[in-house]
This record gives sequence, C-alpha cells and structure tokens, in this order.
Amino acid sequence: MVKFPMRIFNNHPTILVLSGGVELPGIGELEKILEDLGKADPESFQIFSDIFLVESSQGNMLFPESFKEKAREYFGIKKDGRVIESQDQVLGRLERQGIISIYNHWTGEGSLFNSLRAERPGISRDEWENELRVIDEQVKSSTPGCDFCQPEKYTPEDVFGRIKGRHCITGANIAKYDAWSSIIFFNRHHPLRFNYKEVADYLETGWSWFLRVQEQDPDYGYPTFLWNCLPRAGASQIHGHAQILMSKRPYAKFRALLDGVTRYRQEKDRDYFQDLYRCHQAVGLATGDVDLGVIASLTPVKEKELIILSQKSPYQSDRVKKTIYSVLRIFLDVLGVTSFNLSIMGPGLDQEKDAPHLVRMVDRGSMLKNTNDIGAMELYGSSVIANDPYQVIKALRQ
Ligand SMILES: [Zn+2]
Repeated sequence: MVKFPMRIFNNHPTILVLSGGVELPGIGELEKILEDLGKADPESFQIFSDIFLVESSQGNMLFPESFKEKAREYFGIKKDGRVIESQDQVLGRLERQGIISIYNHWTGEGSLFNSLRAERPGISRDEWENELRVIDEQVKSSTPGCDFCQPEKYTPEDVFGRIKGRHCITGANIAKYDAWSSIIFFNRHHPLRFNYKEVADYLETGWSWFLRVQEQDPDYGYPTFLWNCLPRAGASQIHGHAQILMSKRPYAKFRALLDGVTRYRQEKDRDYFQDLYRCHQAVGLATGDVDLGVIASLTPVKEKELIILSQKSPYQSDRVKKTIYSVLRIFLDVLGVTSFNLSIMGPGLDQEKDAPHLVRMVDRGSMLKNTNDIGAMELYGSSVIANDPYQVIKALRQ
C-alpha cells in the first residue's frame, strides 16, 4: 500500500480555511483577485489581461418540490455519511451556480470552473483506501504472465537494440504511434511504486534513447516523453511503463502552443513562458521561480493539472528531475491521485535555447468510477473542471 496521505478529501466552496483560520481564495474569487492586482501591480495585471480572458456568470434553475430532498442528499456536505446542511442551504447553492470561464488568447486553451462542481464532496478516506486495495488486487492478478515483466523475451526491440537503465529497459512499441515510438519498461510491475532514483533513471534512459534515434535518423529531432499510469489514463498494461517518441516536428497540440508563443513574441515583444509564470505567480498559483517553476494551470486540460516550466533539461538537470519526482509524489500521496498522465515536451535536440521544457501532469480520476472523465465538451469545447487550482497549489506549498 502507498503510505497514507494527508489527502484533501473535500473540495469545499471558494474559501479554504487553514488551521489558523487564515482564508485562502478559491478560483471563484479570481475576478476580485485580479481587481486587487490591478491596483497593486498594474504591470502584472496588464500582462495577465494580455494573455487571459476571465469571465464570470451565473446559471440559475428551479427545483420541483418532489426533487428537493433528493437534491439535498446528492449535493449536501456530509459528515460521517450524513448530510449536515439544511435543504435551504443546499438548494441555495444549487439554484444559483457561479461559473468562471478562463481563455488563453494565444494558445486557445480554455476551461470552465463551476463552484458547485468544486463543492461536491470528494472521495472519502474509506473510498480512497478501497481504491488502493482494488489497484493492489489488479496489480497482483496482472503479474503472472505479464509480458512487460520480461520485456527482453516478450516485447520487440528497436532496430538498434535496447537501452538498459539501472531500473528500466527500452523496447519498440508493438503498435507504434509514429515511426519512432518505443517504450520504457520499468523493472517494477507495480505502477504506483517508484522512488527518486527510479524516476531519474527512466528520464535518463529516455534521453539516451532520444540521442540514439537521432544518430540513426537525424531528421527526427523532437523528443516526447509520456507516462500513462493505469488504464483510466490510457495505459494498456498495468505494469509501469512510459512512452518515448522522436518526431520530425513537434506534435500537433504542442506545435499549436508554440505557434501561439511565436505570435505573442511578435506582437508583444515579450517571452510568453516567463509571462505565463508571472501571471500565475501574480494570482497565487505558482511556486518556484521563473527558471524552474510549477504552476497550477489557469486553463487546465482536466483535473489538478500542474505544469513545470523549466529552462533546463528534465533529462539532464538533477534539480528538474527532483522537481518532477516531488510533484508526482504530491500528486499521489497528498492529492490522492492514482491514474495520471504526464508529458514532457520541449525544444528540438539542437534547439535547446529556443523554448523551455514543459512537464505537464493531470489526474484522470478514480478507478472506482465507471464514468469517463473526458466527454465531448473536453474533446471539442472547453475543459470542465471540478478541482480548484488553489487547492492544488496549496498541496504543493504544504
Ligand atoms: Zn509486469
């Protein structure tokens, strides 16, 4: 079992009360935070306004008498399994729902935050323990006959052979995403058990593979490192593994982002990523510094998205590797994430100074839920987000 966490069990409204009674803001107060920023730091406010459009609105509804008690049961805050709020309190929230919409003018990323969704009680401690038990059972039952436990016997290799790390080994992806598409098989079967040395080794082994591919095929110069953990996050096997790819140019979504960055530089004559960090810092959603910072994204692709912005290579710099590992541990041990996606994208191998490296990670939800977290809205519209980024940054700071 994973060490027991200080998990944030409930995502309560827009006020987070610390033990000392100090109130932290929530995403529902972003407009007020920006108003204050405009007075205290007009330059940061201007940069924020150049990048993001923030709008709030209210959706209203009426409840038939016959549904009121059920609605209280569904959405009332519970303690020891019982709703502790009155019908009026719960309906008051339900009948008027605050929506915050955030849009990035340059990258086209956009998210919708509904205060009500954020208020819905999170998974309980029991449920979470239960989820870890279910995962442990799946890990156990998937061990006998696991091909990834014996990759040299039961997986194909690249034409140049395999790269062996201390805690992993590479192999070709049997159903390639792209011409150069391989896998790092972790030595451990259990996908949630990893220490710093192991994560650093996975990254270093990925780096060796990227260099080897470029030797073979110099046209391929853009490295991508992906980690889909557990089936909810798209992994086809329980056994811990990461995907490594080399491409001729950045993949579509990253390329669109870089196009936005270029447009920003041309029109504003400023560095987009430095300004992106500054915007998050100005509204209390960043830690670290501009050279190596972590932001709780204002336009997350889905739940709890954290982005590490680094000027140095995540494959070579120990400081960056340690940051990636720490953020992953907070994801797992503090925020209670089990299924996650992690992606590392950045400049081409011969363009180290052109752009920072972006390490993005996102929670894909509980294994106990049988509904998918991504629907048509996320695929074709804006991402609908339940978790407050202020909760996520709070976990990082603590
Ligand atoms: Zn295995």
